[in-house]
Amino acid sequence: MRDKVKARLWHQAYYAKHKERLLAYHHELYTKNKEEYQAKERQYHKSKYKALRLQIFNALGNRCSCCGESQYEFLTIDHINSDGAKERKDIGTGIDLFKHIIAQGITKERYQILCQNCNTAKYYHKGCPHKKKVLV
Ligand SMILES: [Zn+2]
Ligand SMILES: [Zn+2]
Repeated sequence: MRDKVKARLWHQAYYAKHKERLLAYHHELYTKNKEEYQAKERQYHKSKYKALRLQIFNALGNRCSCCGESQYEFLTIDHINSDGAKERKDIGTGIDLFKHIIAQGITKERYQILCQNCNTAKYYHKGCPHKKKVLV
């Protein structure tokens, strides 16, 4: 019992003496852990995002349904009926949207893959020139 009291007093004295240094140390530890935690979280989020995106791409055929582009980095998920803006507003973007698309069964009636070029053309020029050429 005596030793315990002694030990506690010693700790108190030690703490008082090195208070600032200890606080700084704990703060540093906390900050470092926080950064590591956030980095891990970001990494997890990134891989989850990629996995869900790939799952949808696989289900939709992995290539632009207009020009056939199959380079992953160029591809986007397109709402066939152009109601993407509403869905983004209701559901959100990124992982939330992917989960929503998957929950619906990744229906090809609603979603298709378009490359950035065809996607941009569809929205900003009211139709992709690839398709227009076919019509002419
Ligand atoms: Zn395309
Ligand atoms: Zn096209």
